[in-house]
Amino acid sequence: MTQKQTPRSESDSESTTESPLETARRQLRTAASRTDVDAGVIERLKHPTRVVEVSIPLERDDGTVDVFTGYRAQHDDVRGPYKGGLRYHPDVNADECVGLAMWMTWKCAVMDIPFGGGKGGIVVDPKELSDDEKERLTRRFAEEIRDEVGPSRDIPAPDMGTDAQTMAWFMDAYSMQEGETIPGVVTGKPPVIGGSYGREEAPGRSVAIVAREAIEYYDESLDDVSIAVQGYGSVGANAARLLDEWGADIVAVSDVNGGLYDPDGLQTQDVPSHKEEPEGVMRYDSSNTVSNEELLELDVDVLIPAAIGNVITADNADRIQADIVVEGANGPTTSSADSILHERGKHVIPDILANAGGVTVSYFEWLQDINRRTWSKERVNDELESAMLDAWSDVKAEVDARGMSWRDAAYVVALNRIGEAKEARGLWP
Ligand code: NAD
Repeated sequence: MTQKQTPRSESDSESTTESPLETARRQLRTAASRTDVDAGVIERLKHPTRVVEVSIPLERDDGTVDVFTGYRAQHDDVRGPYKGGLRYHPDVNADECVGLAMWMTWKCAVMDIPFGGGKGGIVVDPKELSDDEKERLTRRFAEEIRDEVGPSRDIPAPDMGTDAQTMAWFMDAYSMQEGETIPGVVTGKPPVIGGSYGREEAPGRSVAIVAREAIEYYDESLDDVSIAVQGYGSVGANAARLLDEWGADIVAVSDVNGGLYDPDGLQTQDVPSHKEEPEGVMRYDSSNTVSNEELLELDVDVLIPAAIGNVITADNADRIQADIVVEGANGPTTSSADSILHERGKHVIPDILANAGGVTVSYFEWLQDINRRTWSKERVNDELESAMLDAWSDVKAEVDARGMSWRDAAYVVALNRIGEAKEARGLWP
């Protein structure tokens, strides 16, 4: 199922990569050109509803005070409350939050989840904070953006540099100020305070489900395919282990230090994931290793980039041998690489569909919170399976009917839903 191509010349290298805002706007333009959504609606979608910037004073453990900047961008709520992560990272800025919020709008719409897109964060390196400082910073941030968030307004979740504990502090601070326990204000909480079972594994599970469907769609059998997975973290390891369980050969996995390669298939349960032992992949077995660059170009049937963005570029797109690429990470394929892969007849299943299991189970968590009723892990996984199959079949219908790439088809499905909702509600006043 694989094919080889001659490498392209150096002159095709990309000198820069797009920012999330540029990507989100380009994808909106592309999808707009393939739908008949009203031009006024497209114009509205180019802009966020609002971006809130706050100052967050923090008393450090030594008694001194530092002031940090926080943001919350809310892109569009025509289909429901804003939904999206809160990241703690030194590079957080308003434009990035807007771009990532737009991305969430498309992701929720392609999954037909009744949420719009939001994103936020604090400009801070969380590794430089003690746990106590992180808690104080989170509580004060929750207070500063309290008017903007809420279970029917905007629902944050963990993202880079934040986790279930951060969400627990946020939820507690919000609830204290509102005078009642309100678990639905955030998702990604520990299950003991309203978090959902299966939330952590959900993005990897959705990647595995979508990979399975794509393999079947292209007339292959799971038992016969070889798969390489870049990044053995929450998304990569969960996807790899499920696909292994379902019969596929996972021949390569990697972490930031490099990867393992065994053409006969790895024992994925034994290779430590990022959570089990950070950067433990190479320590598990130092024979038969590959670099992360080599892993992407292996002669495999399916490639799952599940580590970071912009790893498949114009520089290596001609050397990708996998026929199917399932995007586990957000934005692993640059737009020039996307065009090259499309020209070469490769099938790229986009992030907004493949890793959307995370936001889908966040929606399930929110449903459990507002109904005060916990779902079993089995129920979560069953509902996730059917949500993924519905979304897959909606996108497949566009691919079949109009011969589009999977990415274009996913954006068309999303934009049509948002466009119809805007038409139905109208513009007030
Ligand atoms: P994680 O921190 O659990 O794991 C990341 C893995 O990638 C680790 O094994 C790490 O060593 C490896 N890695 C880091 N830099 C690398 C590099 N330069 N080359 C190769 N490997 C590298 O992270 P995660 O939650 O699995 O997220 C992975 C990607 O999936 C990110 O792009 C994230 O935005 C996206 N994503 C995550 C979720 C989620 O809820 N976890 C949901 C949707 C999308």
